[in-house]
Amino acid sequence: MLAKIPWHLITAPHTELWSRLLLEKYGNHGVFDFDNFRPACSCTWRSIQRGAEVLDLGFGWRIGDGTAVNFWDATWLGNNLIRAAMENSGRHLPAAQVSDFIDHEYRWNRELLAHVLPRDLAQAVLGVPLPHAPKPDTIIWKLSPTGTYTPCMGYTTLMNFPSSQDAGFSCLWTTPGPAKWGSFLWLARRNRLHTQHLRLMRGISNTIVCQTCHIADETSIHILRDCPMVKALWLQLIPHPTWQAWSTMELLDWIDLNMGCKRWFLDKYPWFIVFAATMWFLWKWRCQILFDADFVNPCFPLNTIFAEVEDMCRIWQLEIATGHWVKLNTDGTSRGNPGIAGYGGLLRDHVGCWLLGFSGNLGVSDTLVAELKTIRQGLHIAWSHGFRHLILETDSMIALTLITTPSSRFDPLEHLVEDIQAFLHHEWSCRLQHCYREGNKCADLLANVGADSSALLHIYHSPPPSLCLQLDEDYRGVAYPRSFNC
Ligand SMILES: [Zn+2]
Repeated sequence: MLAKIPWHLITAPHTELWSRLLLEKYGNHGVFDFDNFRPACSCTWRSIQRGAEVLDLGFGWRIGDGTAVNFWDATWLGNNLIRAAMENSGRHLPAAQVSDFIDHEYRWNRELLAHVLPRDLAQAVLGVPLPHAPKPDTIIWKLSPTGTYTPCMGYTTLMNFPSSQDAGFSCLWTTPGPAKWGSFLWLARRNRLHTQHLRLMRGISNTIVCQTCHIADETSIHILRDCPMVKALWLQLIPHPTWQAWSTMELLDWIDLNMGCKRWFLDKYPWFIVFAATMWFLWKWRCQILFDADFVNPCFPLNTIFAEVEDMCRIWQLEIATGHWVKLNTDGTSRGNPGIAGYGGLLRDHVGCWLLGFSGNLGVSDTLVAELKTIRQGLHIAWSHGFRHLILETDSMIALTLITTPSSRFDPLEHLVEDIQAFLHHEWSCRLQHCYREGNKCADLLANVGADSSALLHIYHSPPPSLCLQLDEDYRGVAYPRSFNC
């Protein structure tokens, strides 16, 4: 619809007061110019320029006497400019109108065309019809059968016109999810979120600094990906080997790539849903931090995100691999009992393939506390990553007994046990079972890694090299017989 205005300014420039006014102010010597783009102008003229982009797709000339049309630089020969076709010829192209190549009998001057143009281009020019009597050159819109621009033809053209932006743009609106996600991602993709950067530009903020980290300028890409607080969350979702490439992309490419991604997250949820939900909550929490003094960041943001992801998958009837159980092996270790303690665990799917691993240091602790803390951490990680059919396996019978029997309020480990029991009462299928140490070697290795490290929590999206041999043996079902002294 907007393209109707530049169409009017071009085809009937001086018929109305408003068109004369606009052309005097913004035109090129009173004439509309497609290339005269002005970034600093009124909203009205910017809108007209956007409309002109549509018009430009089919703008052209119907040759009459050829006096008004530049031979080299006007679109009168199909969609091509003759200057562009002659670019590599190395010839000097003197200023010329189309009329210079038309003889006095209103026919193409074949000798001159053959002299100036390559053969195929000259043939193309000869194919352009000329009137038998002198007529003025006429502006036409070539994509319409009548030659006149109409909003209907403009819309049809836009719908069929391939462009690199359309793919990502249409992806936002065609992928399943609530409309508010689409609108939000559309704004983010266009860098139009009301970040401190944009607010300062519009004079409604006196700072550009991110109010979350107080380190960098708050731009869209900063608050959605690069802010240290946000980065810590993404690091739990993005596999380490791909992090470098993933975290250095430009905003538009980054959103398009993730929204167009057909992969699954941990073999369970479509990645684009996880990505969109995470983006949505990151922005929502950022706004609440800024505008709600009572707001406190959630302690377990992944829980909130995956609860939403699960809801969306159910509402939009997206496939979730709910039929598959995953197994969580946990182990805690204490060197000295009590001594330096660590924990570790891993999640594997129903065929034994790696899903996720974790380890961390527990400071000085005894073995039972380490085992219970590991179980609590493992349950939290499994729940927050959206697994809802879980078999938890530990080699600590004492820990299992404590969890499965009613605790006394005088029990020194009551808080830990209660935390674990609260996790077990979540809405999921969670089974506890005991295994021998020989069957829990992978978790044991990770617990030792945790004890050796200083990190409180490390998430492994792919198995660490030191674990590969043991994982392979588990996968192949290698047995470790026990000997008993009778
Ligand atoms: Zn920040």
